[in-house]
Amino acid sequence: MIQFDDVSKRYPGGHSALNHLSFQVDHNEMVFLTGHSGAGKSTLLKLIMMMERPTSGQVFVDGKNLNRLSSRKIPQHRREVGVVFQNHQLLFDRTVFDNVALPLIIAGFQPRDVGRRVRAALDKVGLLDKEKKSPVTLSGGEQQRVGIARAVVNKPKLLLADEPTGNLDPQLSAEIMHLFEQFNQVGVTVLIATHDLSLIARMPYRVMSLQEGQILHGGVSTL
Ligand code: ADP
Ligand code: ADP
Repeated sequence: MIQFDDVSKRYPGGHSALNHLSFQVDHNEMVFLTGHSGAGKSTLLKLIMMMERPTSGQVFVDGKNLNRLSSRKIPQHRREVGVVFQNHQLLFDRTVFDNVALPLIIAGFQPRDVGRRVRAALDKVGLLDKEKKSPVTLSGGEQQRVGIARAVVNKPKLLLADEPTGNLDPQLSAEIMHLFEQFNQVGVTVLIATHDLSLIARMPYRVMSLQEGQILHGGVSTL
């Protein structure tokens, strides 16, 4: 589902964030990405989302060579990849429903289909009864679940998350990770950047660790 071939990323003026990185993530795998702050985790995720382009090397997502994808095709690509952020990036002046509906509106879905899909996504994260609320009135864990519903509402085959439990206590963090497991169990490939090592130590998934833009261990698929 994801393949990096000798990928390097150097930011203008900065030192290199990724250094000749090669790895792959299989279809339907669930993988954790760890490493200290500055190790290159966010950069790796941004290359998959095409928020950045590699300085050299090639990134493939679901068989597509991203180097060959023109800027015009980026919105389409982004719709196929669900993304969850630590700070949710929710719109607080809109309802839960509207937040989750946003990717569908942008993609041009008909209102009837929007309603059906938004409720299906809210149901999966256990928030069907909160659709009319403002995210401000929800707890941190609930807000993160709204972010997850928004990430999966387009039914992406690939789900990325950057520190999705960063601000949550251990109990809520475990619940959020369990949600990702549930999506993985129905066929979604999941890649989660986290530095919550104690949380993932108890989970049976590959852990790929980065250090200074290179893979320290876990670069090989375990499926
Ligand atoms: P992590 O997510 O593991 O903390 P990042 O991918 O954010 O790591 O950062 C990797 C390295 O690249 C760091 O040295 C960081 O300062 C640098 N970096 C990240 N984004 C930028 C940017 N937009 N411009 C310049 N340097 C950046
Ligand atoms: P994280 O460690 O979670 O990646 P950071 O606080 O390092 O978060 O980075 C936040 C944002 O700033 C990211 O979009 C990252 O790409 C950007 N960034 C990080 N380091 C630099 C840098 N040296 N110069 C410019 N932008 C940077």
